[in-house]
Amino acid sequence: MPALMEAQQFQRLVLAWYRQHGRKDLPWQQDISPYRVWLSEIMLQQTQVTTVIPYFNAFIEAFPKVEDLAAAAIDDVLHLWTGLGYYARARNLHKCAQMVSEQWGGEFPRSVAELQTLPGIGRSTAGAIASIAMGLPAPILDGNVKRVLARLHALEGWPGNSQVQKQLWQISEHYTPARPAKSKNRDFTQVMMDLGATVCKRSKPRCDACPLMESCIAFGQGKPEAYPGKKPKQDKPCKSTQLLMLQNPAGQVLLEQRPDSGIWGGLWSFPELALGQDPADHCLSQQWCTQAPSAEHWNSFRHTFSHYHLDITPVLVQLKPLPRVAEPGHAWVDPADPGQLGLAAPVKKLLQQLAQI
Ligand code: SF4
Repeated sequence: MPALMEAQQFQRLVLAWYRQHGRKDLPWQQDISPYRVWLSEIMLQQTQVTTVIPYFNAFIEAFPKVEDLAAAAIDDVLHLWTGLGYYARARNLHKCAQMVSEQWGGEFPRSVAELQTLPGIGRSTAGAIASIAMGLPAPILDGNVKRVLARLHALEGWPGNSQVQKQLWQISEHYTPARPAKSKNRDFTQVMMDLGATVCKRSKPRCDACPLMESCIAFGQGKPEAYPGKKPKQDKPCKSTQLLMLQNPAGQVLLEQRPDSGIWGGLWSFPELALGQDPADHCLSQQWCTQAPSAEHWNSFRHTFSHYHLDITPVLVQLKPLPRVAEPGHAWVDPADPGQLGLAAPVKKLLQQLAQI
C-alpha cells in the first residue's frame, strides 16, 4: 500500500476546489432524491455527461417517480433508452424500479449493503446514491476516481485486476469522510467525479488546475498519463451476419423482438440470417412469400460491442405477393414511424435510410 495523505487534508483540498470549480448545475443535482441520483448513475456508467443529459430529462418527464418507471412496459423503457447502449442497464433499471416499488414501498433502501442487493447496483453506484442522496459516508470508485487515485499515488497495474482494484478501494475508503454529513458527503462524492471528468482527464490532464498537484506522484514523475495501467491487449474477434429488411407491398418492414439474453436483448431488430445463406431461399422456406423475392445487398458496415466486432450486411428483400401475418414477437412497421419500440442502434440507422428511399 502506498503512503497516503492525511484524510482530512485531502478532504479540505478537494472540497475547497469544489466550492469554486465543481459542477453544480447538472439536472440530477437539482431536486436531489435517491431516484434521480440512481437514474443518473446508471446512465452515466460508461457514458459521458453530455450524452446522458437529454436521456435523463426524457426519463424524468416520462417517469417522474420510481413507481411510474416500475409500472411502465419494458418496451417503453427500451424505446427511451435507444441509442444509450449497454441495454442490460435498461432491463436492470426496470427490474430495480419494480423491486423498489414492490419490496421497499417505493423508497430506496438506506444502506450501501441493501442498495447493492438491487439489480444493476454495484458498490460504487450504491456509494454514490448513499452519499449524494442520503448524506451517508460511502466511498465510490468509478472510472474517474480510479484515474485520480492511481495517478496521485502512481499505482502500477490495470484497475480491472482484482488486486489493483482492492488497493484502489482501500485508498478511496481512506480519503472518504467517515461520518454522516449531508452536504459534505454529497460534495465529496461529486468532487471526486468532477476532478476525474474535468481536470484529471484521460489525456492531457490539467495538473496546474488540480488541488492535488503538490502531492501527486505521477505529476512529480512528469508522466501522469502513464497511470492507470492499460488493460492487457486482446484483439477483439470479428463476426459477420446479414440483417434481412423484409418489406411488404405496403412499404412496411418486419421487426422481431430479440430474446432477453444475448446481444440487443429484448430490443427489436431485423431478422438475422447467417452469412452465406440465401435471403430469397430463406423467405420462401419460412413462407414469408410464395414467389422468389428480389434481394438487394447493401454495403456492409461494422458495429462494435465490448467483446467483438460484428460486420453487418443489410439485405433489402421485397416480398410479393402479400406476406403472411406477423406472429407474436414480430411487427410490420413503417420505417419512417416505427412507434414506441426499443431498437438496436444499427436497426434504427437502417430504418432511417429505408425511410429516405
Ligand atoms: Fe491528476 Fe495531474 Fe491532479 Fe495528479 S496533479 S491528480 S495527474 S490532474
